[in-house]
Amino acid sequence: MANAAGAWADGVARLAGAKPLGLTPMRRTIILLDPPPGAEIAAWPAVIDADEEYYFKPEAGMILASPADETPSDPVDAAPDEMDIAICVDRLQNVAELPVRRVARSWAGLRTFAPDRVPVFGYDPRAEGFFWYAGQGGYGMQIAPAAARLGAALALGQPVPADILERGLVAEDVTPARFG
Ligand SMILES: Cc1cc2nc3c(=O)[nH]c(=O)nc-3n(C[C@H](O)[C@H](O)[C@H](O)COP(=O)(O)OP(=O)(O)OC[C@H]3O[C@@H](n4cnc5c(N)ncnc54)[C@H](O)[C@@H]3O)c2cc1C
Repeated sequence: MANAAGAWADGVARLAGAKPLGLTPMRRTIILLDPPPGAEIAAWPAVIDADEEYYFKPEAGMILASPADETPSDPVDAAPDEMDIAICVDRLQNVAELPVRRVARSWAGLRTFAPDRVPVFGYDPRAEGFFWYAGQGGYGMQIAPAAARLGAALALGQPVPADILERGLVAEDVTPARFG
């Protein structure tokens, strides 16, 4: 059985009789803002501060922004909190000349982290045939092409793909066995 249930992965493990790994779903909020009138934003860079307290970037004619929140959550259908939206707008207005007249859209989702914030790909040493593919945190989209090939190889009992190995990643880095 492969457990790729995102925020629900620990719960699915319990249902399957495996031990949860201590995965924590964290809520992350996104808002969309109208660009300043007349501004050509398509070539704007993605802007993120060193302390990761906000980021913003152009997104299909709008400005996408986040307060970079990481609020621990139960595994739920996440919704944005008004306070996180207000914090996001406040942080943006402190650093950029972005007059915010309205928040066109907002949403939130869950980014799920293992205790060491490294993804968990591999068979559970304590639950025969139970394969973990979880804990991708905030990078599951960007790592997807390599992570999917890595996960498939590990699930089939094959070696780590050579190009991934060359970059210094070994199966032990992502194994669920590291949680003792
Ligand atoms: C606001 C936000 C912004 C993000 N930005 C980025 C970004 O810029 N770049 C990036 O790389 N990543 C980003 N991420 C992170 C990325 O979305 C996650 O890392 C990725 O989605 C994790 O993939 P997953 O398949 O493990 O989990 P999920 O995408 O959550 O998929 C798990 C699926 O399992 C399903 N499921 C749960 N339980 C069961 C069950 N019992 N039976 C059947 N199905 C079940 C769920 O419904 C869900 O569809 C962002 C996440 C959020 C919330």
